[in-house]
Amino acid sequence: MANSKFEYVREFERPDYLLRNTWIVVRVDGRAFTKMCARYGFEKPNDRRALDVMNAAAKAVVTDLPEITIAYGVSDEYSFVFHKSCNIFERRASKLVSTIVSTFTANYVHCWPGFFPDAPLSFPLPSFDGRAVCYPSIQNLRDYMSWRQADCHINNLYNTAFWSLVQLGGLDNKEAEKTLAGTLAADKNEILFSRFKINYNNEPEIFRKGSVVFRDYELVDPATHNTAETMDALAEPVQQSKTQNENDKKRRSKARIVVEHFDIIRDDFWDRRPWILS
Ligand code: ATP
Ligand code: ATP
Ligand code: MG
Ligand code: MG
Ligand code: MG
Ligand code: MG
Repeated sequence: MANSKFEYVREFERPDYLLRNTWIVVRVDGRAFTKMCARYGFEKPNDRRALDVMNAAAKAVVTDLPEITIAYGVSDEYSFVFHKSCNIFERRASKLVSTIVSTFTANYVHCWPGFFPDAPLSFPLPSFDGRAVCYPSIQNLRDYMSWRQADCHINNLYNTAFWSLVQLGGLDNKEAEKTLAGTLAADKNEILFSRFKINYNNEPEIFRKGSVVFRDYELVDPATHNTAETMDALAEPVQQSKTQNENDKKRRSKARIVVEHFDIIRDDFWDRRPWILS
Protein backbone atom coordinates (compact mmCIF):
# COMPACT_ATOMS: atom_id res chain seq x y z
CA MET A 1 0.00 0.00 0.00
CA ALA A 2 3.03 2.28 -0.28
CA ASN A 3 2.35 5.72 -1.80
CA SER A 4 -1.40 5.23 -1.98
CA LYS A 5 -3.72 8.17 -1.51
CA PHE A 6 -4.73 6.61 1.80
CA GLU A 7 -1.29 6.88 3.32
CA TYR A 8 -1.91 10.27 4.93
CA VAL A 9 -3.85 8.54 7.73
CA ARG A 10 -0.48 7.57 9.22
CA GLU A 11 -0.17 11.20 10.31
CA PHE A 12 -2.90 10.52 12.85
CA GLU A 13 -0.59 8.22 14.83
CA ARG A 14 0.89 9.93 17.90
CA PRO A 15 4.47 9.26 18.99
CA ASP A 16 4.76 7.70 22.46
CA TYR A 17 8.50 7.37 23.04
CA LEU A 18 9.24 6.93 26.75
CA LEU A 19 11.74 9.35 28.27
CA ARG A 20 15.26 8.15 27.53
CA ASN A 21 17.75 7.27 30.26
CA THR A 22 15.00 6.19 32.68
CA TRP A 23 14.17 2.75 34.09
CA ILE A 24 11.01 1.44 32.42
CA VAL A 25 8.64 -0.70 34.47
CA VAL A 26 5.83 -2.53 32.68
CA ARG A 27 3.29 -3.93 35.13
CA VAL A 28 0.63 -6.40 34.05
CA ASP A 29 -2.39 -7.24 36.20
CA GLY A 30 -4.96 -9.99 35.76
CA ARG A 31 -8.41 -8.88 34.69
CA ALA A 32 -11.18 -9.79 37.13
CA PHE A 33 -9.07 -12.37 38.96
CA THR A 34 -11.44 -12.15 41.91
CA LYS A 35 -13.87 -14.00 39.61
CA MET A 36 -11.09 -16.32 38.37
CA CYS A 37 -10.51 -17.41 41.99
CA ALA A 38 -14.12 -18.50 42.34
CA ARG A 39 -14.36 -20.06 38.87
CA TYR A 40 -11.29 -22.29 39.22
CA GLY A 41 -11.49 -22.81 42.96
CA PHE A 42 -8.28 -21.04 43.96
CA GLU A 43 -7.31 -21.95 47.51
CA LYS A 44 -7.64 -18.96 49.81
CA PRO A 45 -5.68 -16.93 50.70
CA ASN A 46 -2.95 -18.35 48.44
CA ASP A 47 -3.30 -20.86 45.65
CA ARG A 48 0.19 -22.19 44.97
CA ARG A 49 -0.75 -23.50 41.50
CA ALA A 50 -2.03 -20.09 40.40
CA LEU A 51 1.22 -18.46 41.55
CA ASP A 52 3.20 -21.12 39.69
CA VAL A 53 1.34 -20.29 36.45
CA MET A 54 2.14 -16.58 36.94
CA ASN A 55 5.81 -17.39 37.60
CA ALA A 56 6.07 -19.72 34.60
CA ALA A 57 4.58 -17.04 32.34
CA ALA A 58 6.91 -14.37 33.78
CA LYS A 59 9.94 -16.60 33.29
CA ALA A 60 8.94 -17.12 29.65
CA VAL A 61 8.64 -13.34 29.17
CA VAL A 62 12.09 -12.71 30.70
CA THR A 63 13.53 -15.50 28.53
CA ASP A 64 11.91 -14.05 25.41
CA LEU A 65 13.05 -10.48 26.10
CA PRO A 66 16.71 -10.38 27.24
CA GLU A 67 16.36 -6.62 27.69
CA ILE A 68 14.42 -7.25 30.92
CA THR A 69 16.78 -7.02 33.90
CA ILE A 70 14.47 -8.16 36.68
CA ALA A 71 10.80 -8.93 37.31
CA TYR A 72 8.73 -9.06 40.48
CA GLY A 73 5.35 -10.75 40.91
CA VAL A 74 2.67 -11.02 43.56
CA SER A 75 -0.98 -12.10 43.37
CA ASP A 76 -2.24 -11.54 39.79
CA GLU A 77 0.38 -8.91 38.88
CA TYR A 78 3.93 -8.86 37.50
CA SER A 79 6.35 -5.96 37.04
CA PHE A 80 9.03 -6.15 34.35
CA VAL A 81 12.01 -3.78 34.53
CA PHE A 82 13.92 -2.57 31.47
CA HIS A 83 17.38 -1.08 31.90
CA LYS A 84 17.56 2.70 31.50
CA SER A 85 19.92 2.30 28.54
CA CYS A 86 17.53 -0.10 26.80
CA ASN A 87 16.28 1.01 23.37
CA ILE A 88 13.88 -1.86 22.59
CA PHE A 89 11.07 -0.82 20.18
CA GLU A 90 12.69 2.65 20.26
CA ARG A 91 11.13 2.83 23.76
CA ARG A 92 7.65 3.19 22.27
CA ALA A 93 5.19 2.69 25.15
CA SER A 94 2.37 1.05 23.21
CA LYS A 95 4.72 -1.45 21.52
CA LEU A 96 6.43 -2.29 24.82
CA VAL A 97 3.27 -2.70 26.87
CA SER A 98 1.32 -4.60 24.24
CA THR A 99 4.21 -6.99 23.55
CA ILE A 100 4.72 -7.74 27.25
CA VAL A 101 1.00 -8.17 27.89
CA SER A 102 0.41 -10.48 24.94
CA THR A 103 3.58 -12.53 25.54
CA PHE A 104 2.63 -12.89 29.20
CA THR A 105 -1.00 -13.78 28.45
CA ALA A 106 -0.10 -16.30 25.73
CA ASN A 107 2.33 -18.04 28.09
CA TYR A 108 -0.13 -17.92 30.99
CA VAL A 109 -2.74 -19.74 28.92
CA HIS A 110 -0.12 -22.15 27.54
CA CYS A 111 1.25 -23.03 31.01
CA TRP A 112 -2.14 -23.33 32.75
CA PRO A 113 -2.83 -27.06 32.06
CA GLY A 114 0.55 -28.01 33.56
CA PHE A 115 -0.56 -26.66 36.93
CA PHE A 116 -4.34 -27.13 36.69
CA PRO A 117 -4.66 -30.48 34.90
CA ASP A 118 -8.16 -31.02 36.31
CA ALA A 119 -9.52 -27.51 35.68
CA PRO A 120 -9.20 -26.68 31.97
CA LEU A 121 -9.66 -23.04 31.00
CA SER A 122 -13.05 -21.97 29.71
CA PHE A 123 -14.36 -18.72 28.22
CA PRO A 124 -13.78 -15.93 28.97
CA LEU A 125 -10.07 -16.80 28.85
CA PRO A 126 -7.69 -15.06 31.27
CA SER A 127 -6.52 -11.63 30.17
CA PHE A 128 -4.24 -8.94 31.57
CA ASP A 129 -3.97 -5.17 31.44
CA GLY A 130 -0.65 -3.36 31.35
CA ARG A 131 0.99 0.02 31.85
CA ALA A 132 4.48 1.50 31.56
CA VAL A 133 6.02 3.90 34.07
CA CYS A 134 9.47 5.53 33.87
CA TYR A 135 11.63 5.91 36.97
CA PRO A 136 14.52 8.38 36.63
CA SER A 137 16.81 7.10 39.40
CA ILE A 138 17.85 3.76 40.87
CA GLN A 139 16.44 4.99 44.18
CA ASN A 140 13.01 5.55 42.54
CA LEU A 141 13.17 2.11 40.93
CA ARG A 142 14.22 0.43 44.19
CA ASP A 143 11.38 2.26 45.96
CA TYR A 144 8.95 1.02 43.30
CA MET A 145 10.07 -2.59 43.86
CA SER A 146 9.92 -2.09 47.64
CA TRP A 147 6.42 -0.66 47.31
CA ARG A 148 5.17 -3.79 45.53
CA GLN A 149 6.86 -6.13 48.03
CA ALA A 150 5.60 -4.13 51.03
CA ASP A 151 2.12 -4.36 49.47
CA CYS A 152 2.54 -8.14 49.18
CA HIS A 153 3.47 -8.34 52.87
CA ILE A 154 0.61 -6.13 54.10
CA ASN A 155 -2.02 -7.90 51.98
CA ASN A 156 -0.75 -11.37 52.77
CA LEU A 157 -0.67 -10.80 56.53
CA TYR A 158 -4.24 -9.46 56.38
CA ASN A 159 -5.46 -12.27 54.11
CA THR A 160 -3.76 -14.96 56.19
CA ALA A 161 -5.42 -13.64 59.35
CA PHE A 162 -8.78 -13.15 57.58
CA TRP A 163 -8.93 -16.65 56.09
CA SER A 164 -7.72 -18.27 59.32
CA LEU A 165 -10.60 -16.61 61.16
CA VAL A 166 -13.02 -17.89 58.49
CA GLN A 167 -11.60 -21.34 57.73
CA LEU A 168 -10.24 -22.31 61.16
CA GLY A 169 -12.19 -19.98 63.48
CA GLY A 170 -15.59 -20.54 61.91
CA LEU A 171 -16.34 -16.81 61.56
CA ASP A 172 -18.28 -15.53 58.57
CA ASN A 173 -16.66 -12.92 56.27
CA LYS A 174 -18.31 -9.97 58.02
CA GLU A 175 -17.24 -11.12 61.48
CA ALA A 176 -13.67 -11.74 60.31
CA GLU A 177 -13.55 -8.29 58.71
CA LYS A 178 -14.81 -6.72 61.91
CA THR A 179 -12.28 -8.63 64.03
CA LEU A 180 -9.44 -7.25 61.90
CA ALA A 181 -10.72 -3.68 61.55
CA GLY A 182 -8.19 -1.25 62.99
CA THR A 183 -5.63 -3.93 63.91
CA LEU A 184 -1.90 -3.37 63.42
CA ALA A 185 0.56 -5.93 62.07
CA ALA A 186 1.50 -7.03 65.60
CA ASP A 187 -2.19 -7.61 66.44
CA LYS A 188 -2.65 -9.83 63.36
CA ASN A 189 0.47 -11.82 64.25
CA GLU A 190 -0.93 -12.21 67.77
CA ILE A 191 -4.38 -13.32 66.54
CA LEU A 192 -2.74 -15.91 64.26
CA PHE A 193 -0.53 -17.24 67.03
CA SER A 194 -2.84 -17.17 70.04
CA ARG A 195 -5.94 -18.48 68.26
CA PHE A 196 -4.50 -20.79 65.62
CA LYS A 197 -0.88 -21.49 66.72
CA ILE A 198 0.25 -20.06 63.38
CA ASN A 199 3.63 -18.34 63.38
CA TYR A 200 3.32 -15.98 60.42
CA ASN A 201 7.09 -16.04 59.84
CA ASN A 202 6.85 -19.77 59.11
CA GLU A 203 4.39 -19.23 56.25
CA PRO A 204 5.93 -20.08 52.84
CA GLU A 205 8.24 -17.34 51.51
CA ILE A 206 6.47 -17.30 48.13
CA PHE A 207 3.33 -16.09 49.95
CA ARG A 208 5.07 -13.60 52.26
CA LYS A 209 7.58 -12.12 49.81
CA GLY A 210 6.26 -12.71 46.30
CA SER A 211 8.54 -13.85 43.46
CA VAL A 212 11.64 -12.32 41.86
CA VAL A 213 12.79 -13.39 38.39
CA PHE A 214 16.33 -12.53 37.32
CA ARG A 215 19.42 -13.79 35.54
CA ASP A 216 21.73 -15.67 37.80
CA TYR A 217 25.46 -14.99 37.54
CA GLU A 218 28.15 -15.38 40.18
CA LEU A 219 27.32 -13.73 43.48
CA VAL A 220 29.45 -10.82 44.59
CA ASP A 221 30.67 -10.35 48.16
CA PRO A 222 29.39 -6.86 48.93
CA ALA A 223 32.32 -6.26 51.32
CA THR A 224 34.90 -6.48 48.54
CA HIS A 225 32.87 -5.08 45.67
CA ASN A 226 33.61 -1.42 45.05
CA THR A 227 30.36 0.19 44.02
CA ALA A 228 31.73 3.74 44.12
CA GLU A 229 31.79 5.42 40.74
CA THR A 230 35.31 5.89 39.45
CA MET A 231 36.44 8.82 37.31
CA ASP A 232 36.60 6.38 34.39
CA ALA A 233 32.99 5.39 34.84
CA LEU A 234 31.93 9.01 35.10
CA ALA A 235 33.77 9.82 31.88
CA GLU A 236 32.04 7.03 29.95
CA PRO A 237 29.32 8.03 27.52
CA VAL A 238 25.80 7.39 28.83
CA GLN A 239 24.88 5.24 25.83
CA GLN A 240 26.78 1.97 25.51
CA SER A 241 28.33 1.14 22.15
CA LYS A 242 26.33 -1.07 19.83
CA THR A 243 28.73 -4.03 20.10
CA GLN A 244 28.79 -3.74 23.89
CA ASN A 245 24.98 -3.87 23.84
CA GLU A 246 25.00 -6.87 21.52
CA ASN A 247 27.55 -8.70 23.71
CA ASP A 248 25.55 -7.96 26.86
CA LYS A 249 22.40 -9.19 25.16
CA LYS A 250 24.08 -12.44 24.12
CA ARG A 251 25.49 -12.99 27.62
CA ARG A 252 22.10 -12.29 29.17
CA SER A 253 20.22 -14.59 26.82
CA LYS A 254 22.57 -17.44 27.85
CA ALA A 255 22.35 -16.92 31.62
CA ARG A 256 20.16 -19.11 33.79
CA ILE A 257 16.87 -17.44 34.70
CA VAL A 258 15.75 -18.13 38.25
CA VAL A 259 12.57 -17.55 40.27
CA GLU A 260 13.28 -16.79 43.94
CA HIS A 261 11.37 -15.41 46.90
CA PHE A 262 13.93 -13.00 48.29
CA ASP A 263 13.67 -9.79 50.26
CA ILE A 264 14.20 -7.05 47.66
CA ILE A 265 13.56 -4.17 50.05
CA ARG A 266 16.89 -4.47 51.90
CA ASP A 267 20.19 -3.63 50.14
CA ASP A 268 21.66 -7.13 50.42
CA PHE A 269 19.86 -8.62 47.40
CA TRP A 270 21.05 -5.80 45.14
CA ASP A 271 24.57 -5.50 46.63
CA ARG A 272 25.23 -9.18 45.95
CA ARG A 273 23.96 -8.95 42.36
CA PRO A 274 25.42 -5.70 41.03
CA TRP A 275 24.81 -6.75 37.40
CA ILE A 276 21.07 -6.30 37.78
CA LEU A 277 21.17 -2.51 38.03
CA SER A 278 24.60 -1.82 36.50
P1 ATP B 1 -9.02 -5.96 38.17
O1 ATP B 1 -9.52 -6.48 36.87
O2 ATP B 1 -9.40 -4.54 38.43
O3 ATP B 1 -7.54 -6.15 38.38
P2 ATP B 1 -9.28 -8.10 40.08
O4 ATP B 1 -10.47 -8.87 40.52
O5 ATP B 1 -8.25 -8.84 39.30
O6 ATP B 1 -9.79 -6.82 39.30
P3 ATP B 1 -7.12 -7.35 41.89
O7 ATP B 1 -7.02 -6.11 42.74
O8 ATP B 1 -6.13 -7.45 40.78
O9 ATP B 1 -8.62 -7.43 41.38
O10 ATP B 1 -6.99 -8.57 42.86
C1 ATP B 1 -6.74 -9.86 42.44
C2 ATP B 1 -7.52 -10.82 43.31
O11 ATP B 1 -7.16 -12.16 42.99
C3 ATP B 1 -7.23 -10.65 44.80
O12 ATP B 1 -8.41 -10.82 45.52
C4 ATP B 1 -6.26 -11.78 45.10
O13 ATP B 1 -6.34 -12.21 46.43
C5 ATP B 1 -6.74 -12.84 44.14
N1 ATP B 1 -5.64 -13.77 43.79
C6 ATP B 1 -4.69 -13.57 42.86
N2 ATP B 1 -3.83 -14.58 42.83
C7 ATP B 1 -4.24 -15.46 43.77
C8 ATP B 1 -3.74 -16.73 44.22
N3 ATP B 1 -2.64 -17.27 43.72
N4 ATP B 1 -4.43 -17.37 45.19
C9 ATP B 1 -5.55 -16.84 45.72
N5 ATP B 1 -6.06 -15.64 45.34
C10 ATP B 1 -5.42 -14.96 44.37
P1 ATP C 1 7.38 -6.85 13.51
O1 ATP C 1 7.66 -7.58 14.77
O2 ATP C 1 8.14 -5.57 13.39
O3 ATP C 1 5.89 -6.64 13.27
P2 ATP C 1 7.16 -8.81 11.41
O4 ATP C 1 8.12 -9.81 10.91
O5 ATP C 1 5.92 -9.30 12.11
O6 ATP C 1 7.96 -7.79 12.36
P3 ATP C 1 5.38 -7.34 9.66
O7 ATP C 1 5.65 -6.05 8.94
O8 ATP C 1 4.34 -7.29 10.72
O9 ATP C 1 6.79 -7.86 10.17
O10 ATP C 1 5.04 -8.39 8.56
C1 ATP C 1 4.46 -9.65 8.81
C2 ATP C 1 5.03 -10.67 7.83
O11 ATP C 1 4.33 -11.88 8.00
C3 ATP C 1 4.88 -10.26 6.37
O12 ATP C 1 6.01 -10.64 5.68
C4 ATP C 1 3.67 -11.04 5.93
O13 ATP C 1 3.69 -11.30 4.55
C5 ATP C 1 3.80 -12.30 6.74
N1 ATP C 1 2.49 -12.89 6.97
C6 ATP C 1 1.58 -12.54 7.87
N2 ATP C 1 0.48 -13.26 7.80
C7 ATP C 1 0.69 -14.14 6.80
C8 ATP C 1 -0.09 -15.17 6.22
N3 ATP C 1 -1.31 -15.47 6.66
N4 ATP C 1 0.44 -15.88 5.21
C9 ATP C 1 1.67 -15.61 4.76
N5 ATP C 1 2.46 -14.65 5.24
C10 ATP C 1 1.98 -13.91 6.25
MG1 MG D 1 -6.25 -3.83 38.63
MG1 MG E 1 -6.44 -7.97 38.79
MG1 MG F 1 -3.97 -7.34 41.19
MG1 MG G 1 4.38 -7.99 12.76
